[in-house]
Amino acid sequence: MTVVGIDLGTTNSLVAFMQGGSPVVIPGEDGLSLVPSVVALDENDRIVVGNAARKYLIETPERSVYSIKRLMGRGIEDVRDELKLFPFHLADDLEAGEVLRIKLGDKTFTPPEISAFILRQLKRNAERFFGAPVTQAVITVPAYFNDAQRQATKDAGRIAGLEVLRLVNEPTAASLAYGLDKKQNGIVAVYDLGGGTFDVSILKLHDGIFEVIATNGDTHLGGDDIDNLLIAIAIADIKGDLGFDVSRNSDVVATIRKAVIEAKIELSSQPSTKLAIELPRGKSYLREITREQFETLIQPVIDRTIGPCKQALKDAGLRPEQLDEVVLVGGSTRIPKVRELVERLFHRKPHTDLNPDEVVALGAAVQANILSGGSEATQDMLLLDVTPLSLGIEVAGGVTDKIILRNSTIPASATQHYTTQVDGQANVAIHVLQGERELAKDCRSLARFDLKGIPPMQAGLARIEVKFLIDANGILHVTAREQRSGKESEIEVQPSYGLTDEQVEGMILESFDYAEDDFKQRQVIEARNEASTILAALEKARTSPAWGQLTSVEKQRIADQEKTLNEVKSKDDYHAIRAAIDALNQGTMRLAELMMDTAVTTALKGKSMDQGDMAEGIGTAHPVAKADFE
Ligand code: ADP
Ligand code: MG
Repeated sequence: MTVVGIDLGTTNSLVAFMQGGSPVVIPGEDGLSLVPSVVALDENDRIVVGNAARKYLIETPERSVYSIKRLMGRGIEDVRDELKLFPFHLADDLEAGEVLRIKLGDKTFTPPEISAFILRQLKRNAERFFGAPVTQAVITVPAYFNDAQRQATKDAGRIAGLEVLRLVNEPTAASLAYGLDKKQNGIVAVYDLGGGTFDVSILKLHDGIFEVIATNGDTHLGGDDIDNLLIAIAIADIKGDLGFDVSRNSDVVATIRKAVIEAKIELSSQPSTKLAIELPRGKSYLREITREQFETLIQPVIDRTIGPCKQALKDAGLRPEQLDEVVLVGGSTRIPKVRELVERLFHRKPHTDLNPDEVVALGAAVQANILSGGSEATQDMLLLDVTPLSLGIEVAGGVTDKIILRNSTIPASATQHYTTQVDGQANVAIHVLQGERELAKDCRSLARFDLKGIPPMQAGLARIEVKFLIDANGILHVTAREQRSGKESEIEVQPSYGLTDEQVEGMILESFDYAEDDFKQRQVIEARNEASTILAALEKARTSPAWGQLTSVEKQRIADQEKTLNEVKSKDDYHAIRAAIDALNQGTMRLAELMMDTAVTTALKGKSMDQGDMAEGIGTAHPVAKADFE
């Protein structure tokens, strides 16, 4: 069974797999491989994902959500900024410390559940493509994702029915897609400008192994900012030229947004474009934009990527000349001006052979193939990532004691020794922290647990060993052990805003309801399509000579069956549609035979069909097959 690679993006998501020796993206039913990360509830409370869900963002914004990745593994205090900038509808009854829930209509879903809807769509696309189940995946996450965000992504996979074999950092995946691991050694800079986020990472490659040595970025910078600049210009123009203020008309703004995105994309390959917008009351707006004007306009936006790039180089202790490779990721790096800037910043031409919006998924597929043991060349390749933030525990005086430092390569483990503070102390509270700040109260609290049952001894005598281990997915396991007595306590850190195992189990069960709903819906659609094909074929058959050979009773029966099928076709009852199809197939059996005979006779007489056609005609002569009439 194929293990797929998934890029679960803020704006767009994709699934890819390894075909022969190279990774390829898998298209959906609509032929497009980019699935917008949008989820909505339709009129019948069914979940809709991707392109199909986009219209709900405008029509019923209270029943749809986008950019859910911003809320993954985060608590209400963490997301105030996001709530100001994005129209997330949080559930009203949220309690402090609870996992966030988003309202879609009357229902509420946690961010991992929403992401799971996107993952399930990708899973379905892959299953449709392979004609076989897909149950294992590698999913990418930003290099800066903390423990809670990684755990939430894993939970999303489980809820969607996918075993997540590995979480891989996005820049690492992009480098893998370019096969940079084959170069054995070098330094790679990955510049990722997507829809709403900018990330830069510096990777070190040694003996074919990647290590992320620094990351930086801006979580509110990307193609959306460019779109907004163009929208503002269009709105100002429309007001100036036509005297309309359309800024509060969300339908018009949505139309403008669509038009400016098209214009922006065109300007990546053309020297100029026309921005044409149909307005209400028969008015319209037309403006030519040259690439030069566009570049002047967006300069301030793309310049905001300079600071983080310089900082990442500084953190890595490198000068631009020391880089060996530069990789572009994210749809917005298709803009030529962005490519120029990257080249200037890093003193080197970036790789551009692969589509920047596919490259992360392609790399995830390479990693998936490695983990499934599918490729000998890459089999024993290890991928190293770094922890984005330091991890430690709280010690006396509310101080943070760091155990694993930020930017450490993972998997990582480290041990520190502590002791008791008072005579006869039987319990030690271990408070696990994440962050760079000195005081525990300023760091993020990941977990608390107690090491109990320490035998009575003088203060300072107990020897408590605290071991931190970050596994290859970036998930932390903590053990505390009193070495004299051998007392031990261990936890896999459940992030503060993570879901419990029971909650995830519950969501998996619930998702089956949706899966079943999905399945039923698909059955109905397929039966409906089959009904349409048969009805159209019957229409055609009525004009054939064979029709004239039927008795009036036969003709009447067919007409009745046709009427029934037409009636049930538009309803949602799969069994009724199926039964009506079967009845009509049965009723037209003799007609099919007559038509076949005529076809064969004609062929024999006039040789109007060649042997191949004839053989095929006879081969499909079974009366129930819809091909009979065609
Ligand atoms: P993310 O990683 O944030 O999910 P993507 O990498 O798919 O997103 O990038 C999406 C962004 O790329 C959008 O803002 C989109 O408008 C922009 N984009 C896609 N193609 C082009 C292009 N040809 N020129 C300019 N921008 C583009
Ligand atoms: Mg991306």
